[in-house]
Amino acid sequence: MENTAWNNKKETVLYIIVPCYNEEQVLPVTSDSFLKELQQLIEKKKISSDSRIMYVNDGSTDKTWQIIKELSEKDSHFIGISQSRNRGHQNALLAGLMEAKDRCDVTITIDCDGQDSIEAMEEMIDAYDRGCEVVYGVRNARKTDSFFKRVTAQCFYRFIRLIGGDVIYNHADYRLISNRVLEEFANFGEVNLFLRGLIPLVGFESGTVYYERHERVAGRSHYSLGKMMGLAFDGITSLSIRPMRIISLIGLLVFFASLFGVIWIFVGALKGNTIAGWASMTIILCLLGGIQLLSIGVIGEYIGKIYLETKHRPRYIISERTYDRMD
Ligand code: UDP
Ligand code: MG
Repeated sequence: MENTAWNNKKETVLYIIVPCYNEEQVLPVTSDSFLKELQQLIEKKKISSDSRIMYVNDGSTDKTWQIIKELSEKDSHFIGISQSRNRGHQNALLAGLMEAKDRCDVTITIDCDGQDSIEAMEEMIDAYDRGCEVVYGVRNARKTDSFFKRVTAQCFYRFIRLIGGDVIYNHADYRLISNRVLEEFANFGEVNLFLRGLIPLVGFESGTVYYERHERVAGRSHYSLGKMMGLAFDGITSLSIRPMRIISLIGLLVFFASLFGVIWIFVGALKGNTIAGWASMTIILCLLGGIQLLSIGVIGEYIGKIYLETKHRPRYIISERTYDRMD
């Protein structure tokens, strides 16, 4: 399919995909700005009037789904799907992307809390019209993040790159993906989802758009330290096996070091000057014990992922839609 929005052959149908988990405080505030942006883009003839804002309710326990249903009754530009239970942000995004894939030319995924600046969408569409199949939204500052989040996030991106993962620095899940890329991405069947690392693997022409990250309009983040670490581990294990190689390398180094130690002790024993070195023994024991436990942990992490992948469980289950499904 050609990107022909500008020469009037075919208008681009855009689906804005917005995952929501317990966002009853946020939804009424940000839905207006989403709709305004969509209408502006339609007026400017950048997108077709068939474009939609698709909310993905990720098994919320508050009034989120009810609010989405009300929005869809009020304005036909709003539609929604609901997951049968909470499965996490990445799976909610996947559900939305796969649902939208056959209905539109291009998708933009964005959080519903107003943190990602909505105005960047126009630039993304422009980049798509210039031929980009994927456009990454990149934060140009992290002023609104806490010092802790800023530092941990930076370490994370650096580490992923170090182990060979292809991630865009300071890009989260605010991005445009064309349906051509989604078609190919649908063949990536993994359960261990880390979209910001997987989409670059699909390839195709890509671009970046810079934007300012704001504060949440209401409510609070669902990413606790534990969830953030979970995502980080998922990212690392889904993109690279280099940590296991590093372990093998450490094992090799320790092996050679101990070979040297054995010879040294043997020669010492032959000479008859063996020493009662409790401290050095204990240090070596602790060090080796530590390295071994860490190594088993890392290997276990990968085995755990293999275990989950072999089950082939569905990655999302849509239980309700605000529209009739067309297959
Ligand atoms: N979210 C989701 N399922 C979850 C957790 C979060 O769909 O289990 C959604 C949430 O509603 C929001 C987006 O994912 O639209 C990002 O979450 P949040 O703002 O809590 O994360 P942060 O911006 O702090 O990283
Ligand atoms: Mg947020």
